This record gives sequence, structure tokens and C-alpha cells, in this order.
Amino acid sequence: MPENENDCVRVCVRCRPLNEKEKGQGFVQVVHSKESARGEPPKTYSFDNVYAPDAKQVDIYNESARPIVDFVLEGYNGTIFAYGQTGTGKTFTMEGVRAVPELRGVIPNSFAHIFGHIAKAEGDTRFLVRVKERPDIGVYVKDLSAFVVNNADDMDRIMTLGNKNRMTGATNMNMHSSRSHAIFTVTIECSEKGPDGEQHFRVGKLHLVDLAGSERQAKTGATGQRLKEATKINLSLSTLGNVISALVDGKSSHIPYRNSKLTRLLQDSLGGNSKTTMIANIGPADYNYDESISTLRYANRAK
Ligand code: ADP
Ligand code: MG
Repeated sequence: MPENENDCVRVCVRCRPLNEKEKGQGFVQVVHSKESARGEPPKTYSFDNVYAPDAKQVDIYNESARPIVDFVLEGYNGTIFAYGQTGTGKTFTMEGVRAVPELRGVIPNSFAHIFGHIAKAEGDTRFLVRVKERPDIGVYVKDLSAFVVNNADDMDRIMTLGNKNRMTGATNMNMHSSRSHAIFTVTIECSEKGPDGEQHFRVGKLHLVDLAGSERQAKTGATGQRLKEATKINLSLSTLGNVISALVDGKSSHIPYRNSKLTRLLQDSLGGNSKTTMIANIGPADYNYDESISTLRYANRAK
């Protein structure tokens, strides 16, 4: 169990590198550890971890994700979120590039970690791993059945299937701005013989969440049904922020889980005996300044 309330929620920030297009267009990096931007006084925020543009996927996994997965293997619940404006690296952080080992993100690294752990199990210890993907929370809920998986390759295949179904569409921001939250849930059941000679059973649940883009909707040019969906997305993200900040605060008697579908769904894995990590992603360039500040404020409040 977490040692104290503050251990339950960890928030870190990752800044992606400037890309070639941004460099070509002369955008400058305004995210620095300790410098002012736009001639304004520097704004300072503190987080559990901060990842500069040259941070390695494996370091992010080891420092910010591995402790949650270990905790789930012990039979508790945990959630890892990637938050941020579209194009800042949420999917890169969660999925990365599967074909390139050093570019693999949190999800494939978790699979390898989980099945590596299972492979080391001895004697009467038995594991059952099930996965379930819900690619569409906040827009509508389409229930997918759970699959029993035997190895990391099985998990990869299911992920790929789920991603094809994920609701995406073109907006002005980006060709594949994701307007839905992708939740991938891994349930790990373990049965093992305890010191008393009896068989003990425990179950842990890991939610890996690539949140919908946090950008303000005016900027995406959404109208009609799109705008309605966008409004729901904004509500779920702000409710998530409120839930996490109430959990961190520890004094609130009311945690507003019920205010959005996303938080209702994750209720058993946010707070209580569970651990949560939020990775807030930001872009480095000056044209993202306002969105980056808004993400840092959100993440800072979550802490
Ligand atoms: P999001 O999911 O937040 O919309 P993506 O993960 O799709 O953003 O990232 C946008 C682009 O930037 C992708 O082409 C991705 O490969 C690249 N990218 C993001 N983060 C990094 C990083 N840390 N290093 C290198 N490229 C990155
Ligand atoms: Mg994405």
C-alpha cells in the first residue's frame, strides 16, 4: 500500500523535442528548466519528475511507470495517464514506436515487464492475464469483450486491433487529432501458495490511458456534433483534474468521480489503495506557449 496519501498520485511533465517542421519555420524553444519566455517573468512549477526533450523512453518507463506496474503485480490497482495537447507526444509516450526497441513506450514496456515477471514465477504460482480495450470513453461506450492473453505478442496484437477501431478524425490541429480517450486495461490474477500452505488469490488492475487532446476547442474549429463531443471531452478532463486534486488534497470528503464517464469508469483505480501516475506532455515551441502553460497548470493542480 502507498505509504502516505501523497504517494498515491505522482505527476510528471515531458517536453518533446522541436520537430523538423518547427525548426524549419523558425519556431524557438520556450520551455526551459529555468529561463523566462516571451520576456515575461519565468513561471515555475514543481513536479515529481520532469523529462527534457532528450529523455529516453526506457528512463520514463523505469522511473514513472515501472513502480505502478510492480504495484499491480502485487494485487493492487494502478493507472497511468498521458495528458496534453494534441501533437505533444501522448501516444509516443504510451505506445511509442513498437518496431524500434529503444522507442517503445509505456504500454509495450509494461507488457514485457508483466510477462517477464510471470516467466520468473515458481512452483504453484499461476497467473491469468486479461486485457480489455475501451477506445471511446467520453463519447460513447461500446463494450469490447476481454481476452485472455498468454504473452506480450498477444497483447500487442489486441492493441493493434483496438487502435484501428479508435475514433479519430481530421481537425485543423493535426491530421489525427484524437478526440477520444483510449483506455487499455490489463487485469492480472495470481494464485499462489502462501506460507500457511493455502492457495491465495489476488487480482490487480492496470489502466493505461492515452487521454484525448486537452486543447481548447475553439482552436480546433469544431462545430455541431464534433463540438458536442469536444465539450464532453473537456468536461471529462476537468473532472479528472478535480478528482486527482481532491485525492491529493486528502481533506476533501467528496471526490467527484460521478461527474464524468471517464472518472466513473476508473473509480476503482483512482484513490483508495491504488496508485496513479500522470505524464503531462507539452510541446517546446513558442506557438504552443498558452497550451503548454495550461497543461502545466492542470498538472500542477493535480499535484
Ligand atoms: P499526441 O498523441 O499527443 O497527439 P504524438 O505522440 O502523436 O502526439 O506525437 C506527435 C509527433 O511527435 C509524432 O510524430 C511523434 O512521433 C513525435 N514525438 C512526440 N514525442 C516525441 C519524442 N519525445 N521524441 C521524438 N519524437 C516525438
Ligand atoms: Mg495521440
